[in-house]
Amino acid sequence: MENCIFCSMVSGEIACDKVFEDDEVLAFHDINPKAPVHIVIIPQAHIATLNDLDEAHAPLVGKLFLAAQKLAKEQGFADAGYRTVMNCNRLAGQSVFHIHLHLLAGRLMGWPPG
Ligand code: 5GP
Ligand code: ZN
Repeated sequence: MENCIFCSMVSGEIACDKVFEDDEVLAFHDINPKAPVHIVIIPQAHIATLNDLDEAHAPLVGKLFLAAQKLAKEQGFADAGYRTVMNCNRLAGQSVFHIHLHLLAGRLMGWPPG
C-alpha cells in the first residue's frame, strides 16, 4: 500500500526499532511512547482498520496477540500486567490506518481509558 508508514516499515524503506518479526507480523517500539514500554505490533499485510477484518483474518489477529504475549514474557512484565489496545477510526484516535496492536506496560494503567 502506497503512502502507508507501517507498510514502509515492513518493506524496510523506513527504519524502525524492531523487537520482533516473523513471516506475518512485525513489532517495533512506538516513536511517541505512552508508557515505559510501548510496542506497536502490526500484520505485514496492509489492513486499514479493524472494520476491514473478516473471518479469514482471524488467525492473523491471533498472531498479533501471541506476539504481545511472547514479548511480555521475554521482557518480564507478563505477570505484573500489561495492556493491549487496537484503536478503530476517529473517535478512538486511530492515526495510522494500518491495523496495529499497542502493547503498553511498565506503569499502572487507568480504567476506563481516556
Ligand atoms: P494509533 O494512534 O493509530 O492507534 O497509533 C499509531 C501509533 O503509531 C502511535 O502511537 C504513534 O506514536 C506511532 N507511530 C506513528 N508514526 C510512527 C513512526 O514513524 N515510527 C514509530 N515507531 N511509531 C510511529
Ligand atoms: Zn500499510
